[in-house]
Amino acid sequence: MKIKNINRTSQTTCVCGSWLDHWKKFSGQPVTHCPASRCLNEDLVGAHVQKGGDSKDPEWYIYPLCTDHSSYLGELEVSDSYMLISANKKETCER
Ligand SMILES: [Zn+2]
Ligand SMILES: [Zn+2]
Repeated sequence: MKIKNINRTSQTTCVCGSWLDHWKKFSGQPVTHCPASRCLNEDLVGAHVQKGGDSKDPEWYIYPLCTDHSSYLGELEVSDSYMLISANKKETCER
C-alpha cells in the first residue's frame, strides 16, 4: 500500500507515552524494522500518515516507520502486513 507523511504533528503525543506505543497497543502487532520497501532500519517511531495513491480518506493514521522514512516527503510504498491505526485519540486511547 501507499502512504504519505504528515510532518507537522510528530511533537504531540498521547496517553500511550509515544505514538509508537500507541500503534503497538492498538495493532497488537510486533514490529522489528521499518516496513518501507527495502528498508531494514530499526530506529522506529510512530509516524503520522495518510493513505496515499488514489485514496480520498482524510483520516490521520499512525504507522511505524524509521526516523529517515518518517521525515520523507512524498509517497512511500510500505508493507500491507502492518495495520494503519487511527491517530484520533477520541477513537482510541482517550475513548
Ligand atoms: Zn495513544
Ligand atoms: Zn525506513
